This record gives sequence, C-alpha cells and structure tokens, in this order.
Amino acid sequence: MLLLYGVAVSPRRKLLLAIATGVVLAGPPVAAFNLWLGSLVERQGQDELDVLARRTIVLAEGRIGRAVAALDELAARGVDSCRGPHIDALRQANFSVTPVKEFSVVAPDGRTLCADSGNSLEPRKLISSEPVSAGATVLLEVIRIGERPGHWVRIRRPTANASNGIAALIPVESLIVSMSSQAGPLSTLARMTTRGGTLIGEFGDAIPAAAEDRLIATLPSERYALTVTTSMLRTQVAVSQTDMRALGTIGSGILAILILSLSLLLPKRGGHNPITELEQALKAGEFVPYYQPVVDIRSGRLRGAEVLVRWRKPDGTIIPPASFIPLAESSGLIIELTRALMRRACREVGPALGRRPHLKLSFNLTARHFADEEIVQDVRRIFNKSSPRLAQVVLEVTERQPLDNLTETRRVVAALQGLGVQIAIDDVGTGHSGLSYMLKLGVDIIKIDKIFIDSLGTERHSNTIIETLIDLAQNMRMDIVAEGVETFEQVMHLRELGIRSAQGYVFAPPLPASAFLQLVEAIEPVKPEEERPLAPAAQFKAG
Ligand code: C2E
Ligand code: CA
Ligand code: CA
Repeated sequence: MLLLYGVAVSPRRKLLLAIATGVVLAGPPVAAFNLWLGSLVERQGQDELDVLARRTIVLAEGRIGRAVAALDELAARGVDSCRGPHIDALRQANFSVTPVKEFSVVAPDGRTLCADSGNSLEPRKLISSEPVSAGATVLLEVIRIGERPGHWVRIRRPTANASNGIAALIPVESLIVSMSSQAGPLSTLARMTTRGGTLIGEFGDAIPAAAEDRLIATLPSERYALTVTTSMLRTQVAVSQTDMRALGTIGSGILAILILSLSLLLPKRGGHNPITELEQALKAGEFVPYYQPVVDIRSGRLRGAEVLVRWRKPDGTIIPPASFIPLAESSGLIIELTRALMRRACREVGPALGRRPHLKLSFNLTARHFADEEIVQDVRRIFNKSSPRLAQVVLEVTERQPLDNLTETRRVVAALQGLGVQIAIDDVGTGHSGLSYMLKLGVDIIKIDKIFIDSLGTERHSNTIIETLIDLAQNMRMDIVAEGVETFEQVMHLRELGIRSAQGYVFAPPLPASAFLQLVEAIEPVKPEEERPLAPAAQFKAG
C-alpha cells in the first residue's frame, strides 16, 4: 500500500491515475500538434498546386511566344499565300520552332487553305477564337482536327494580304506539363482554359469531386489570354491526417519527424520552382558536358568535338538540353551554366587536348552571351592558362535566334577573336538572318544544318544552297562543318562538294568524357606511330 497526496492508493490505481494525468497533460499539445500537422499538410498540397500552375504557365507562355514570334517573322517576310516559296518558308519555320506542328495559310472564315506539310488537310472545327492578349490582332484559337480526340491550339495572325492569315498549330500536350509524374505522391489535374472559358485541355488524374472537396490553385497568364487551374482531392490530404491521429502520441511524434524531415528535404530534392531546381542542379554539378566528335572526312581523323550539355540527375537520369536550355536562357542562368560547362570540360578533356593542339573544342553560346563583354572575361579566365588553349576553342552562336544588338554583338565577337578563339555560326540556313548575318559578324566557321544534309542527293534545290554556302565560305576564308551526318552516302556527297569537316551519328553521338577520351587515344595517338593502323572513327557508341 502506498500513499499518494496523503490518500492510500493501490499500485493499479496509481497507474491509471498516471495515465489519466499523462493524457490530460499531453492532450492539448497533441491536439495542437495534430491541428498544426493538418494545416502543414494542406499548405504543402496548396504549394504544390501553385508551383504546378506556375510551371505550366511558364511553359505555355514560352511556347506560344515562340509561335507568335515565328508568325511575325513570316508576316514580315510577306508570307501570305499558298505559292511554292511561301510554303517553303512555312516549312522552314516549322523546322526551327519545335512546339509548332504545322504552319498554315488560313482564310478569313478560319478554313485552312494550305499547310507546310502539304498533306491532305483533315477538316478542322473552330471551337473558340479570342485575341491572344488584350487588344491584340493575333488570335488564340481552340480547334478540333477531324475525328482526333482532344483539342489543338492555333495561333492565327493577320497579314498585309487582307484576305489571308497565317497560323501555327500547337498540340495541347506541349503546353501542359505532364503534371502527375512530377507532382509526387498526390495526383493532380491541370486544366487550361482560354480567358473566355473554353477548355483548351487538361492533363493528369481525373478528379470528379465537387469543388469544395478539392484544393485548387488558379493562375491567369499575364502575357496571354489563358488561365491554368490545378487541383487535387482534399481527401487525399485529409487521409494522411486521420491516419496520423489514430496513431496517437507516438505515431504523431514519428510522423512529425517524418513530415518535418520531408519538408526539410523537399526543397533540396525538388525545388520550389523550375528555376530554383536549375540553380540547385547547377550548384550540385549536375550539368555535364558530352562531346560529339567532329571528323575530317578526307582522312578519317579527328578535328575536335562539340560540347553538348546533359543534365545528369542524382538517380542517373539523363535529361537532354531541349528540356532545360530554354529556361536557362530565359532566366539568365545560361551564363553560369556555360561557365560551369567550360570549367568542367577543361578538367575532363583539357590535358588530352593540350597534347593535341590541332584538335578544337566548341561550345554553344546564346544571344544573351553577346549582350555584354562578360563572356570575354569568362573565356579569358577559363582558358588563358589551361588546356585546351584559347586557340583551340570555338564558340558557336546559333542563327536560329535573332541577335538583338548587332553593334554590341560585333564588338563582343571581335573581342573574343582578339583572344584567339574562333567563332562559328551554328544551324546555318535555318535562321532568320541568313547570309547577311555571317557577313556582318565576320565569323570563322559556318555549321551547315542537318536539314540540308538530309536532303543531299534528294533535292536539287538544297544542293544549290550548300554549293552557295561553300562558295561563300571559301571566298571569305571560312571553314565549314556539316552537321547531323547520318549515312556514308552523305559523307561521300559532302566529300565531292569539297567539305572537310563533319559531325553526326554516322561517326559518333555525343559521348561522355570517358568514351570520348578513349576515342581520342585510339585515333589520335600522341606519339607519331604512323605504322599503327588508324582505328575507324565511325560507329563509336555512347556508353
Ligand atoms: P546543336 O548545337 O545544333 O547541336 C547538335 C544537336 O544535334 C545535338 O543535340 C546532337 O546530339 C544532335 N545530333 C548530332 N548528330 C546528329 C545526327 O547525326 N542526327 C541527329 N538526328 N541529331 C544529331 P542535343 O545534344 O540534344 O542538343 C540540342 C541543342 O541544344 C543544340 O543544338 C544546342 O542548340 C543546344 N545545346 C546543347 N548544349 C548546349 C549548351 O551547352 N549551351 C547552349 N546554349 N545550348 C546547348
Ligand atoms: Ca551547336
Ligand atoms: Ca547545330
């Protein structure tokens, strides 16, 4: 028998009392904790929806923006009819503007008169037509094609020829990110509507419940007349709360720790928005250079390589540049990314290239790099005292994007050339500015785009373009590299045309550093052991 507060109590009673006291004392904190937990989980669900909506808006704005710019460019060039040269121009635009599946000429009533594909046109039904942004003459239209499921977005622009417009067709899937795969364990639905309320498309897991049962985020685009709504079931969020409460104090404690560590881990893993994600990947060194060999097609020897970036995620997934370069460019992160890539390439292949001064290493730059002289400082700092040497470096600038300020660009190009590096124009023949570009910039190398290589031997027209480019390059003492060479037949043609350097899958895809270094050792041994047979450059696979 024991005494508690002066009263004799049995051990059994004491235990019950202790439990009751414990429950009373622990109850409010646990209840408060559960309440806090509930709001935390709900807030996270809401955050996730906000991020997904924002991500979709950024994607859609970027892609629609590119289509609008391409239509402006076509209109400026006077493209407004179904005549041959106009169809050619539409086709060229289609090639360079990725999300657009078709460029067409459209009658005032919305009928498609002809398209770049030249295919027989399935009937299109116009579902809605609204200005793409307040007061704009460009229209954002939702259409249905033949019997195909789902909708398409058509951007339609008037031309000077009052009776015809031109239009770009964009598949809805390319405007809405594949949400549920990125949204983690909670399934979400993303809906895109026009400002007038027409459904453009939706993507994700169907959520049939009434509005009050859902968490919802709605975000209108500031640039274009569209709105994105993302949603998830509130019960999905609530289920986790009920389970947690049932587990009682210990369960709650464990879950609290789990949730806390999850909320601590989440920003590290996923980032709050795609730009943060890029920044974190950059800090973590996840952007790695791949090297695509450039081959001398007369001798079969190596001339160098082009550095092409890959995003290697910690789980080993390799993301191609098309998925992140546009965002890196628009956010300005491309400057730091290029810098990191140059440093890493120096570390990885610098020593091997240093011993082979005839090999060149080229990097891709973007219009943003030519806006000021920062790139000149970067290149000087990175390559001045290391290998590859400045004279081995080539910087590629694409003809696909127009350069804003030609005077400043020319100054930067000249300053870079002053350091000893060479400048190449990439994707020649596909862009806006054409030959005049090269003449004005005074570049050293032109890279002929795959589109012309593909038609080698098939279309007399393209051969003429290549021949014109070769003439021009020779007159101006510029080197030529043929890109995207996939067959030996093309190699033979290029050789006949007098082209010396080529790059493409027929020789090798972009290779990780280790494979590229093996290739260099195999076909460019440092000691001149001429009697040793040269290993063929062809068919070297990534791995
Ligand atoms: P690009 O500079 O025109 O690079 C050539 C692209 O064609 C590469 O795609 C390459 O893998 C691919 N390619 C090479 N040979 C063949 C072939 O025989 N057939 C076919 N079908 N394709 C071939 P990738 O690596 O996906 O790069 C795509 C684009 O991303 C590049 O086009 C470039 O514009 C951009 N990019 C890549 N790395 C960087 C970078 O570090 N900085 C910047 N600013 N842009 C980059
Ligand atoms: Ca390139
Ligand atoms: Ca190219």
